[in-house]
Amino acid sequence: MRQRNVKNKKDIINNSKYIILNPEEYIGNWKKLFNNFNPIYIEIGMGKGDFILENAINYPNINFIGIEKYDSIIALAIKKIEKIELNNLKLIRMDALNIDNVFKKEIDKLYLNFSDPWPKERHAKRRLTSNVFLEKYDNIFVNNKVIEMKTDNQGLFEYSLISFNDYGYHIKEISLDLHHSNKENNIMTEYEKKFSSKNNRIYYVKVEKNQ
Ligand code: SAH
Repeated sequence: MRQRNVKNKKDIINNSKYIILNPEEYIGNWKKLFNNFNPIYIEIGMGKGDFILENAINYPNINFIGIEKYDSIIALAIKKIEKIELNNLKLIRMDALNIDNVFKKEIDKLYLNFSDPWPKERHAKRRLTSNVFLEKYDNIFVNNKVIEMKTDNQGLFEYSLISFNDYGYHIKEISLDLHHSNKENNIMTEYEKKFSSKNNRIYYVKVEKNQ
């Protein structure tokens, strides 16, 4: 995502009630943090947060955690989210490479929306659906591992299907043209709004792997 420098981004992050600054301290205890036993869904690479915010508003009985690597981007998400009062949403500024130090057997679903494609073969391991990341995700799920992915990047989509398959995931739902499918209640991300307005095709897959 193109980054615009956001003034006072550190202050915005450090002072937000939505941000968890020391997420490793909550490993194994996220349900306690939310103070209920509701399922926890996370999104890695949440960008400016439209998707996770709309989910949190629409589904109050699910807890949502948005993860984003860059200060400037998460600061923009915070500005938007701070205006709303929600008990079922938290944000973490971190690199997903650290995810297995933050969650342990407590996540019910993972969303990957318009992840960076890293088109060069020598960067394939950096893709959020490479086996490097799939191995890390293994330890975070409480029951079955469930991942939902959307992208407009055909190359990343093809790569991810093979990577999921090689790693033992099964396809539960798939669309090669999400916006012309009969899938209901689709919540759009910022990139999805942008790319679909240019008539880019949106790919979608939901995969699952038993414990
Ligand atoms: N999900 C949003 C943004 C997509 S752009 C949307 O669909 O509109 C991809 C986002 O993932 C960027 O904001 C980028 O900073 C973030 N990202 C990429 N690699 C990451 C990583 N390893 N850990 C956390 N966030 C990451």
